[in-house]
Amino acid sequence: MAATLAATGRRALAAEMNADVVIIGAGAAGLAAAHDLKAAGRRVIVLEARGRTGGRAFTDTSLGPAYDAGAMFIHWAERNPWVQIAREHGIETQSEPWGGGFQVFANGKPMPETDRQKRRGAFGQIDRRLETVDLTKRDLSVRDLLGDLGPDMSQIASSGLLLSIGEESDRISARDYQRLWAGDDLVVPSGYGNLVAAYGAGLDIRLNHPVSEIRWDGSDVAVTTPSGTLHASACIVTVPVGVLKTGAIRFTPELPARNRDALDGLGMGALTKIALKLEGDRFGVTPGASFLEAGSPGQLMNLDLFPDDKDIVIAYCGGDHARELSAAGTEAARAYVTELLTKMLGGDVRKAVTGISFPAWWTDPFSRGSYSVCLPGRETAREQLAEPIGGRIFIAGEATAGGGAMTVGGATLAGRAAAASVARIKA
Ligand SMILES: Cc1cc2nc3c(=O)[nH]c(=O)nc-3n(C[C@H](O)[C@H](O)[C@H](O)COP(=O)(O)OP(=O)(O)OC[C@H]3O[C@@H](n4cnc5c(N)ncnc54)[C@H](O)[C@@H]3O)c2cc1C
Repeated sequence: MAATLAATGRRALAAEMNADVVIIGAGAAGLAAAHDLKAAGRRVIVLEARGRTGGRAFTDTSLGPAYDAGAMFIHWAERNPWVQIAREHGIETQSEPWGGGFQVFANGKPMPETDRQKRRGAFGQIDRRLETVDLTKRDLSVRDLLGDLGPDMSQIASSGLLLSIGEESDRISARDYQRLWAGDDLVVPSGYGNLVAAYGAGLDIRLNHPVSEIRWDGSDVAVTTPSGTLHASACIVTVPVGVLKTGAIRFTPELPARNRDALDGLGMGALTKIALKLEGDRFGVTPGASFLEAGSPGQLMNLDLFPDDKDIVIAYCGGDHARELSAAGTEAARAYVTELLTKMLGGDVRKAVTGISFPAWWTDPFSRGSYSVCLPGRETAREQLAEPIGGRIFIAGEATAGGGAMTVGGATLAGRAAAASVARIKA
């Protein structure tokens, strides 16, 4: 009797787990694709490994005050679909509101004016070279683009990339960097992550469903999770390239050589935020101030202090320094930022620090980094990765977003493009 019931349960699950389209990942790309296909009349199921939606857009409230632990800015707002989505949800967006001043430090002490001038001279060198160096015949790494500046100045000039791209300059394609879209930035006071998560409402999303295998050797696509196997006519895969590169999802048969080669041409940056809760003392700092620790260019760290008058300090870093902190773990990260703040603020910061939030995207099994980066000479990898597989599997997400890559807006456009390709397949 028990065996019969179990078998019936499995059959019920199997029936429930059939769809026209299965989408893997409930981040911006997956949610956008799901909305479009649902509107086109397709039965869509979204499988999400985590117990929440939003992916790398995540508003964290674990410290009390909310802050965006992943994406925070609606970049190139002039053409970013999230301006419209926020409007439709009645959610306010605004220009970056903080203005508590900006100070530069070297090893926790105010940086001397001569050194600051040197830094100012170095900044802008990347843009200048992108305008003057001919990249039409060959790609270069950003580091090589700056080669004639000499090692010191080149390192200073490229250090800002640690906080924007999250990666070391020798691993960034200059051509890919050149094509990234620019424009105005907006923020979402109630949380960009909250907005992306809200966008999932009304969709059939199965949380805590990590996908381990995608079979595409039969007449359909079979997607395996611990809860069973789902069959669909088409599949959109929106997991980060960092996850695809680990092989955590097995493809049977394996991915075509073109897509595998594309993955070899892409890496993941390691932009990281470490948020500390500080209570009881603000050490005379104006809320919304930004401090930049720039004593060692490779360990550049930006700190936003008491943004929006909240009792938190958010430290950002990227590249190999962020990888080391992620590997060292939460307590080591707490000690590192606390010590830096102690030097900068001069008081007993240790006493004021009452909590830490450290979503280490680099070591997180469902992201494996902050966002995708094209390696030098591999600037076509994004388009190559998005090439359809067997006419029914489509890889989409920020990594395939061309000039919109690395962003929530780009992921959304890439998800919509994949949905349009699927919609063209006969139902
Ligand atoms: C610290 C940080 C700061 C950032 N700042 C900005 C910013 O200011 N502005 C901006 O636009 N962008 C920013 N980004 C980048 C932005 O967050 C991403 O580009 C965007 O969210 C990617 O969306 P996506 O849908 O492509 O991928 P994701 O959001 O990563 O969604 C993919 C989903 O797949 C799920 N998944 C993974 N493995 C599996 C599996 N095996 N089975 C099922 N599901 C799985 C993941 O859990 C995730 O939910 C930032 C990112 C980080 C980390």
